Amino acid sequence: MKVWWIKPTLSILILFIPATLGWGKEGHYATCKIAQSLLTEEATKAVKELLPESEGNLSAVCSWPDEIKWMNKWRWTSELHYVDTPDFRCNYDYDRDCHDSSGVKDRCVTGAIYNYTEQLVTGYNASNSVTNYNLTEALMFLSHYIGDVHQPLHVSFTTDEGGNTITVRWYKRKTNLHHVWDSDIIESAMKTFYDKDLNVMISAIEKNMTTTWSNDISSWANCTSAEEVCPDPWASESIKCSCNYAYRNATPGSTLGDEYFLSRLPVVEMRLAQGGVRLAATLNQIFTPYASVSQKLAYFGNIQPKPHMT
Ligand SMILES: [Zn+2]
Repeated sequence: MKVWWIKPTLSILILFIPATLGWGKEGHYATCKIAQSLLTEEATKAVKELLPESEGNLSAVCSWPDEIKWMNKWRWTSELHYVDTPDFRCNYDYDRDCHDSSGVKDRCVTGAIYNYTEQLVTGYNASNSVTNYNLTEALMFLSHYIGDVHQPLHVSFTTDEGGNTITVRWYKRKTNLHHVWDSDIIESAMKTFYDKDLNVMISAIEKNMTTTWSNDISSWANCTSAEEVCPDPWASESIKCSCNYAYRNATPGSTLGDEYFLSRLPVVEMRLAQGGVRLAATLNQIFTPYASVSQKLAYFGNIQPKPHMT
């Protein structure tokens, strides 16, 4: 009797599991955990104030926009997790690409990043004026979407829905290309290299930030435009990763195994690191607006390897 009851319920649930999730839970957790350790004191305080329920623990709430986007009240946010480019065009252009499926401008992941940054800047720093923005929601959306824009297949071709319609096998299991990049690569990495422990994987990524990528961190964090945030170059990087790594050798029906896994894992780990560094840089810019550039760069300098004491 129990089995009979469980089975149909599970299959009904499976029907409602959304096809597009962004990085899976693990990817968003990793991005936000990496960001959290790079926040300035003021930004840490602001995050604590805005997230009283999770006591300022950003990584605990970073998947929230994925959990709510299928609810009636929040359905309008479901097109804000990605941006589609024309098929087989390996570049991104805000004016051309940032719109929803009905053509409404600015409704895409990069537009959402601009929007929620603006809400936090005006809402948090305007001490005497009252705004209608919900800054807690704005912080959770911004943190999630900065993660999403770094998942290469969230900036990818329109017709295949970011790889969602490309059915492949991940080793023996049937899945789709989008899911491979959201979750399968990360989950296989955890099993193969990191003791099935996400925190061990995050520590390895953070170690790479002090070694392999140490010379790149300040350029990752640097926003050359006059804005507080610059999601357009991040989206351009993602579509290039989609063309060079995600779509390559992953035609419909193909089986992806060791060769694909081992050559793409470094890309996934770098995108998680870049997402974390840039989320921290954005939040530091929003919540520490008067710190000098050198103070902020000095802060990012803290993750450079320490010079040897002789
Ligand atoms: Zn998402």
